[in-house]
Amino acid sequence: MDLIKFQELFKKQAGYRLGQAKKSLYQELIQNWQEAKALPLILKEELNEKCPIDILAETFISKDKNTIKALVTLEDGLKIETVLIRHKDRRNTVCVSSQVGCAMNCSFCATGKLGFKRNLEVWEIIEQVLFFARYLKKIGERVSNVVFMGMGEPFLNYQNVIEAIKILNDEDGFNLGARHFSISTAGIIEGIEKLAKEKLQINLAVSLHAPDDKLRLELMPINKSYPIRKVLNAVDDYIKKTRRRVMFEYLMIKDINDSEKQAKTLAKLMKKYLYFVNLISYNFTGIFEPSSPSRIKRFKEILEQEGVAVTQRHGFGQDIEGACGQLAGK
Ligand code: SAH
Repeated sequence: MDLIKFQELFKKQAGYRLGQAKKSLYQELIQNWQEAKALPLILKEELNEKCPIDILAETFISKDKNTIKALVTLEDGLKIETVLIRHKDRRNTVCVSSQVGCAMNCSFCATGKLGFKRNLEVWEIIEQVLFFARYLKKIGERVSNVVFMGMGEPFLNYQNVIEAIKILNDEDGFNLGARHFSISTAGIIEGIEKLAKEKLQINLAVSLHAPDDKLRLELMPINKSYPIRKVLNAVDDYIKKTRRRVMFEYLMIKDINDSEKQAKTLAKLMKKYLYFVNLISYNFTGIFEPSSPSRIKRFKEILEQEGVAVTQRHGFGQDIEGACGQLAGK
């Protein structure tokens, strides 16, 4: 649906109608305007015709049932993937896409192989969250976190990503607290700078994956224009302005970036106030192998000994190719 058309349609309505419509859409989680009890029939019909809210998606559920992937078909027929991760503590994280495909072309990522198709519209971002909110409503649960770690580079679709977050955060909209959103970037400095100026308490994550520029450039072509030092300087400015923690994502790839020496080099960069490192198990996408659990354990120990804050993220939904970096919309 076109959110601008949606707003405009209410210009000729009584002032309170827009609020009623938003409440039905974002809070009651209706799937068709006919279900919007407060609205008059003729308006519901007009909304269904001009601003349809049905979401066309096919779902895939992992064996352990904790990861659910939705393959969403957009209005122009292109497909994107979005993933729901159900944690043991009843937290439900939706991992959303920000673009169709991705231009970053990181060597370890499945989305990169597709190349870049186009940016997602604001509604196309929101509908990924609504899809799973509707899904969870049926079992009495809610979406508790939204992470921009699906397909695409969110900072190359900055405006639409922020606009979608604002609507999802809005008390009259989906009403999810700002602290429950995270944006992950491959290191687009302009995006980090802009985010620092927003008055939004959302979380920033940066994909680092290597402790030095030589290796990072091999893994992530973007390192050519945005080398590590420049990215970290932008992060330091961001921290100065926002006083918020920043997460550095570090994939564990066997014999590529997981040695003791690399752990020590990484520690030198990462031992800093409000920095923390998140070690991610690499999901197989055709090349490379994941690091062994013992290697990851050792790597983590070294970082801890050196005084770096570090957490570990376990893979979810590998069997449905619904894990980090596996989203390809095929
Ligand atoms: N473009 C953004 C957000 C999308 S990728 C970014 O680069 O951060 C979200 C996260 O998944 C990133 O940290 C990315 O590096 C990671 N990722 C990509 N491929 C992966 C793989 N095969 N296994 C595990 N994580 C992967």
